[in-house]
Amino acid sequence: IKKIGVLTSGGDAPGMNAAIRGVVRAALSEGLEVYGVYDGYQGLHQNRIEKLNRSSVSDVINRGGTFLGSARFPEFKDEKVRAQAIENLKIHGIDALVVIGGDGSYMGAKKLTEMGYPCIGLPGTIDNDVAGTDYTIGYLTALNTVIDAIDRLRDTSSSHQRISIVEVMGRHCGDLTLMSAIAGGCEYIITPETGLNKEQLLAKIKEGIYKGKKHAIVALTELMTDANELAKYIEDETGRETRATVLGHIQRGGQPTAFDRILASRMGAFAVELLMQGHGGRCVGIQNEQMVHHDIIDAIENMKRPVRTDLYALADKLF
Ligand code: ADP
Repeated sequence: IKKIGVLTSGGDAPGMNAAIRGVVRAALSEGLEVYGVYDGYQGLHQNRIEKLNRSSVSDVINRGGTFLGSARFPEFKDEKVRAQAIENLKIHGIDALVVIGGDGSYMGAKKLTEMGYPCIGLPGTIDNDVAGTDYTIGYLTALNTVIDAIDRLRDTSSSHQRISIVEVMGRHCGDLTLMSAIAGGCEYIITPETGLNKEQLLAKIKEGIYKGKKHAIVALTELMTDANELAKYIEDETGRETRATVLGHIQRGGQPTAFDRILASRMGAFAVELLMQGHGGRCVGIQNEQMVHHDIIDAIENMKRPVRTDLYALADKLF
């Protein structure tokens, strides 16, 4: 193996830049050439590929987002489009590709691997929804951003005896909501894992009001219901002012925390190590503090993320 490519795909996450840097610097130190692909699979299909050197990744370790750009490119599900992408990689003489992204991006990497082109997946997403890793790059940075927002909501909610619903990202994974609820001291947690029972939620909120609670903060995972409609329902039923705050893309931005920079650096270098050892079709994770790798096809098809019943139980005790 002499030349490798790297791209970022899907939703961006803080720490992606540090991961690219990890790949580039580790590869160069092994005497490999590295090529950056712009805007994910879209740029791969359009052959927007450029050689990267040491200074291409100067001053990026502390920056959020991804300097290579990212894209949603549903056309990549088409085999002909992927064949063209592989052709472009071959024209540059690139032997393997490192894909930094979430589970959608892993699907693309898995399919390239199935077509005979070796890929390594690095988990880059704030959702923490990727199998085979305890943490994804960007998740803990986003968690801090969410907690900061919840703290601010708490100040104003308790001053006005208001009920707040805060909608947190995570797609079909409640990790970000659960952890931010515990760290932010939210009273109620609604995630894909718990499901939403409006009557039960209302009963709990009423019980809180009866006990003399000055405020209530409900942490809700996105895509489960319309947060504003839920707020209106609770306001109508309790007579207390209720507001929904949808945190949105704020959660994706900002400087990566130390943990994410270190995680991204380790994972980037580990991907290069795997390629040097002749591994392809793997995805990288951190489990019990160790770098691990799994078959990317197996990870997507068979591995499940554990539901943190222990932490849901903890949250229940603390409210
Ligand atoms: P994330 O990687 O953050 O989960 P997406 O789900 O949008 O984000 O996936 C990112 C990109 O990965 C998609 O826009 C598409 O180009 C590619 N992708 C997703 N699913 C597939 C699939 N089933 N086959 C091939 N490529 C896919």
